[in-house]
Amino acid sequence: MSEEYKRAIELMKKHHEWMHQTINLIASENVSSPAVRMAMTCDFGHRYAEGWPGERVYAGCIYIDEMELLAIDLMKEIFKAEFADVRPISGVVANLAIYTAFTKPGDRMMALSIPCGGHISMGRGKIGGTAGAVHGLRVTYFPYNEKELNIDPDATIKKIRRSFEKGKKIKLLMFGGSVFPFPHPVKEIADVAKEYDIIVNYDAAHVAGLIAGGIFQDPLREGADTMTMSTHKTLPGPQRGAIVAYEKYAEPIKRAVFPGLVSNHHLHSIAALVIALAEIKAFGEDYARAIVKNAKALAQALYERGLNVLGEEKGFTESHVLLVDITKYGDGGTLEKKLESANIIVNRNLLPWDIREGRNYMHPGGIRLGTSEVTRLGMGPSEMEDIAEFIARVVVKGEDVDKVAKDVAEFRKEYTKLHYCFETVEDAYRYLGP
Ligand SMILES: *Cc1c(COP(=O)(O)O)cnc(C)c1O
Repeated sequence: MSEEYKRAIELMKKHHEWMHQTINLIASENVSSPAVRMAMTCDFGHRYAEGWPGERVYAGCIYIDEMELLAIDLMKEIFKAEFADVRPISGVVANLAIYTAFTKPGDRMMALSIPCGGHISMGRGKIGGTAGAVHGLRVTYFPYNEKELNIDPDATIKKIRRSFEKGKKIKLLMFGGSVFPFPHPVKEIADVAKEYDIIVNYDAAHVAGLIAGGIFQDPLREGADTMTMSTHKTLPGPQRGAIVAYEKYAEPIKRAVFPGLVSNHHLHSIAALVIALAEIKAFGEDYARAIVKNAKALAQALYERGLNVLGEEKGFTESHVLLVDITKYGDGGTLEKKLESANIIVNRNLLPWDIREGRNYMHPGGIRLGTSEVTRLGMGPSEMEDIAEFIARVVVKGEDVDKVAKDVAEFRKEYTKLHYCFETVEDAYRYLGP
């Protein structure tokens, strides 16, 4: 056995071992069920199936085609959509498919800036964002209300009208983002978008699981034409992407995805997606409600321990995510590292006003926390108190991180099983390999 082979096995085992000693609060992550993880290893992943089910460029797709049709049907049912394309291999690729289908390089899109919660796939060219650097879009920003932590609908409508008056057409509105505690004002803005023939996409990468569970908001009924997503954040499936839309947008989306953006489309994870969606159909509503309840409980518990969780007047959050202004105790980058040493995994995050105040992405003023994964492990509001206490011990009281790390690992022993899925095993993070 070669050294590299042995080391590779060891790295996986070490990572798995560590994961079941940690509290993972990364808002864009989740842990998939044992059935989803098994599906990820099936032979589909060695095959090609270019094109649409039933019209493939490759032979050998009999079962693969039926699987992809199952995924499409489940997506349409769960998101109450006329059309679904499950081939984008990630959320970024799904967004790029929307840009490709509905815009040309040089066109203008409105999206959130990164400090206000936008994602790099909506970003301008000068920061290397997908929209600008890959598709040549000009990106203009939604006016943002820092107090409400949300897009300002009135200012947005004014900005759209002013832009068209000046002859600067906007082709695409991109709702959604990566820090997203409150529903976006899609309903308030969509009519004006229709007036100007602007395509409205809602990027549900973070909140797809909440929408699937029937809470948060329902973009396709509120005026969105198309909705892109990742399938592994609040929606606890394999890492990939998807698009749902009204039927009239089907053809340009299909063409953008293939031949435009994928050749193989990671077929093993299509199988895994079907299993994840079947689980969502059975458990999705309960899961989504539990995630949001925990997010509110965690926010409150942190707030009571002196942490400046934003959005207090609005109940902190209506989603899985909360944003904490951490400047009283240091910067997000340093505290992210410190918490990691204490077995608590979070993201540092820019606050909407950070750039203005001279902070940067490496050392921002915030941390972002999400409750999707801890909820999957069966934790509830009382465990959110425990987690808040662990965080406060590191951030507020400055306790020794090794001591907290030990206590976190001990605490985690009680929560080994996954919930909201058909098959459950003793250890949600069990290593399945050699
Ligand atoms: C995470 C995220 C994406 C992209 O996700 P991938 O699936 O990792 O490509 C896109 N948009 C938003 C708003 C996100 O938060």
